[in-house]
Amino acid sequence: MFPEEKLLMIPGPVPVKDSILGALASEARSHVDPNFAAYFQQVLSDMGEMMHCDGITFLVAGGGTLGMEMAAANSVSADDKVLVCSNGYFGDRYIDICKRRSRRVEELHAKWGECVTLEQIEEKLAEGGFEVLFMTHIETSTGAMMDLENTVKGIRADYPDLLIVIDGVAAGGAVEVDMRWGIDIYLSCTQKAFGSVPGNMLLWASKRAIERRKNMGEITESYVDFEKWMPVMEDSRRYWVTPAVNNVLALGEAIKIMKEEGYENRYERHKRVAAMLAESLAAIGFEVACAPELRSPTVSVFLYPEGMNIDDNKFRKAADDEGVTLASCLGDFAGKGFRLGHMANYTKHTIVSSVAAIERACIRCGMGIEPGAALAVLQKEMTAV
Ligand code: PMP
Repeated sequence: MFPEEKLLMIPGPVPVKDSILGALASEARSHVDPNFAAYFQQVLSDMGEMMHCDGITFLVAGGGTLGMEMAAANSVSADDKVLVCSNGYFGDRYIDICKRRSRRVEELHAKWGECVTLEQIEEKLAEGGFEVLFMTHIETSTGAMMDLENTVKGIRADYPDLLIVIDGVAAGGAVEVDMRWGIDIYLSCTQKAFGSVPGNMLLWASKRAIERRKNMGEITESYVDFEKWMPVMEDSRRYWVTPAVNNVLALGEAIKIMKEEGYENRYERHKRVAAMLAESLAAIGFEVACAPELRSPTVSVFLYPEGMNIDDNKFRKAADDEGVTLASCLGDFAGKGFRLGHMANYTKHTIVSSVAAIERACIRCGMGIEPGAALAVLQKEMTAV
C-alpha cells in the first residue's frame, strides 16, 4: 500500500547523509594529487585533534578488523605476554587475532551484557610481565560500554609502560575519547558513528605505540606496518598503497558534519537518545540487556518480553516489512532479542519512525501492545526541556 523506504537501524553500516554520498560520487582523482594530499592531511589532523593524539593517526582502506589486526601486528611479538579482555563476540575476535601472534595470550572474560572490571584487570596484571592489554570500548554484540576513562587512568597509574589498545569500532565519533587518559592505540572505522560508508579504518597511535613499533624491528606484515604508512600519514603525496580516495573525501565530509554539530553536542545527543529509546521501548515490554550504567549510546540489545515466545526471525521480518531493518543478536543473546543501532547522523524523524515501525511489528506479531504506547513516551522525552 505504501512505497517502500527502509531505515537502516543496525549497528553499522548506518544511514549516510547525502553530502557524504555526494563526496563518494565525485570524480576519482590521483591519490598523489597535491590538492587531494592536502585534503587527506586535513582529515588526519582533524582525526588527531578529535582524540587528542600525541602520535600519528592512520587512515587505511579496510574494515574495523583490519584496524584490530594492524594494532596487534605493530605491538605484539611471538613472546610477548598479552592480556585480552572480552565481554562478547568482538572481544573474542581479538583473542583469536592475538593468539595468532603470541604464544602468551591470557584472557579475562565478563558475562555477556557486562564488562570486565578495573579490579579484575588490576588483579590479573599484578601477576606481572604483561606488555600489551586489549579492551573493547563498546561491545557491539551486547551493547555494553566500558568505563574507558577510569579504567585506563587506573591502569596507567600503576603500569606506565604497558601498551593499552582499545577497539573503538562501535564508539569512536559518538563517545568522548581522550588519548591523554593513557590510551596507546585506539581504532575505529567509517561505517559506524562517523556516519560514512564502510571502507576505511581509522587508527590513532600514541608516541609510546610508535616507539614500541620501532623497537620491534622488522615485522612479518607489510600492508599494516606502521613504518610503511608513517611517511604517507606525514605527507600524503607519498605512495605506499593507493588510498581509497573517494572514501577519504567522504570521511572528510563526515568529519565536517561532526564539527558543525560540535563533538560535545554529538556525544550528549547519543547519550540522551539511547536513554529515550530504552524508556520508550520499555513501555511495550522490551528490556535492554545491560544494566543502566553499562548501556552504550550507540547500540542496544532489546530483549523480547519474557514468556511471549516471540519468534526472532518473524519479528525482525515484520519490522523490516514495516520499514526498519534491525540486527539479530549473537552468542548468549541469539534469538532472545534484536539489536538496534542508534548512531551517527540520524534525525528525530529517523528515531520516531523506527519506534513506530517496531510498534507495528509488535502488533503484527500479536504481542497485544497498545498502539502508540512507546511513541507516547518518546514524544514526551523529545519535547521535555
Ligand atoms: N570491533 C567491533 C566492536 C565491531 O563492532 C566490529 C564490527 N561490527 C568490528 C570490530 C569489526 O569491524 P568490521 O566488520 O568493519 O571489520
